[in-house]
Amino acid sequence: MNLSDITQRPHWSYSSLNQLLNICSLQYYFQRIAKLKPSFASVNLVLGSAYHRTLEQVYLAIKNGTVFAPETALEFFTHSWQLGINDQEIRFVKMTAEETAEQGRKLIACSIDNLPKGEEILSISEPFVVPVVFRGQFMELPMVGEFDLTVRKAERPTVVDWKTSGTRWSAGQADKSLQATVYTYAYQQKFGINPDIRFDVAVKNKTPVFEQHETTRTPESWDRMSLLVNKAESIVKHQCFYPAETSFYCSDCPYSDACKAWHQEQVTENKRQQSATAA
Ligand code: SF4
Repeated sequence: MNLSDITQRPHWSYSSLNQLLNICSLQYYFQRIAKLKPSFASVNLVLGSAYHRTLEQVYLAIKNGTVFAPETALEFFTHSWQLGINDQEIRFVKMTAEETAEQGRKLIACSIDNLPKGEEILSISEPFVVPVVFRGQFMELPMVGEFDLTVRKAERPTVVDWKTSGTRWSAGQADKSLQATVYTYAYQQKFGINPDIRFDVAVKNKTPVFEQHETTRTPESWDRMSLLVNKAESIVKHQCFYPAETSFYCSDCPYSDACKAWHQEQVTENKRQQSATAA
């Protein structure tokens, strides 16, 4: 089963939880409940997706003992990027399409230059669907996602997530990451082992920088996560969606038109309900 099969049924994922709890609950509502058509696709998401698909091929070749030459990887990236921008409306703000493609090729070259050594590849793009246990009970929706890469290093499994980032990660960023909690929880549920987790980050500096950030989690972190999932389910059940007006993400939000009209629709709905009650 691949990730798109798994995500056909209702579920939680790191990205849906993060969007609801840390980005903007109204954006979550527009995208995942109202299912509004976004006015554009985020250039960062398209670039990140082409970057992921390329690294996937690079690691598959390594796992299979074949060679995926750097120039082939760069061509593969360019092709994936082109497919991504042909497919959908993109809003380019700081850089043109060609400048962004060039940035992506530099990120790939930088990541290939820094491929970790001495690690056994266990899996690539491995999907997971695991139950969320809250106070000893299974919650209604499972947790779904995909490990970009899992490796064995010094006899321990490590889950690796590939990232591109506009800035260098701050000290402690991985330690606070909700994704690290969700992914270690999922690995523990699936394999019965609490793994290490590492973020391999390609930073979009003029000359890209490659960083690795490792962290670990304990069962207590997972208890906290399941309580967060419980709170997230309450938010959805009671429809407590509101705009995070000062969100860092507003400038790249594809639902900003619907957001501007949100309070007007609420006023209309309140009036409709008051008329119905009076009648
Ligand atoms: S524009 Fe900002 S506040 Fe409005 S939905 Fe988007 S992220 Fe939320």
